[in-house]
Amino acid sequence: MPPWPDGCAGAVTLTFDDAITCHLTRAAPILNEFGLRGTFYVNPTPAWMERAADWRAVHAAGHEIGNHTPGHPCSNNFGWMHQRRGLEDLTLAEIEEEIRRGREALEAALPQQKDHSFCYPCYQDFVGRGPTRQSYVPVVAKYHAAARGRGETFNRPAHVDLHYVWSFPCERMSGAELIGLCEQAAEGGGWAVLTFHGVGEAHLMVGESDFRALCAHLARHAERLWTAPLLEVAQRVRSWRNDLG
Ligand SMILES: [Zn+2]
Repeated sequence: MPPWPDGCAGAVTLTFDDAITCHLTRAAPILNEFGLRGTFYVNPTPAWMERAADWRAVHAAGHEIGNHTPGHPCSNNFGWMHQRRGLEDLTLAEIEEEIRRGREALEAALPQQKDHSFCYPCYQDFVGRGPTRQSYVPVVAKYHAAARGRGETFNRPAHVDLHYVWSFPCERMSGAELIGLCEQAAEGGGWAVLTFHGVGEAHLMVGESDFRALCAHLARHAERLWTAPLLEVAQRVRSWRNDLG
């Protein structure tokens, strides 16, 4: 028996990165309209903290607000990272400080939220380069019960690393493609995690009508497809594994 509730065949998590304005104005309202709950990974900078009331309202509607770090450190191989110290130059202690600051800022801004998951900026989970390169997944695991990266397929509940859950980057996908990812996971008894950035506008965009088509499908088939925030699904997978011994 898969771990999903109420006889559901598969699980789906919709995630939204970078605290883009369209998440407040489009994505969250559309999810609410269809009775779906997702995970919004935000960068809790001072500018973000000024809008914390808007994000508290998103959390109050049932969504998870997760840690995407204040500084969003990525590889120096990105052009926009050239003026900054990238992951190649950071130490594990420095990335730990970044993760801890993000976690504490979210706890301060959203005291009602009991816990939240982590999301790797640019999906990257390393510091250093070549002989000194190492994973920072174990550092994330010190602070968070679950974390989202990027992967090749849906997640198998018996095997997924809950501190690097695989997700599908969904920019430019059609509604049919988005629905297909969820249905494939359900056929395999698995968990599809979808990553969105812009919805209807902004970078790495998915069309609003395509996003709506996905949400309508998930709402219509809620008895087969369990849609829930990332931390909630990860916790269910963990307790299912514990029960299996
Ligand atoms: Zn990001």
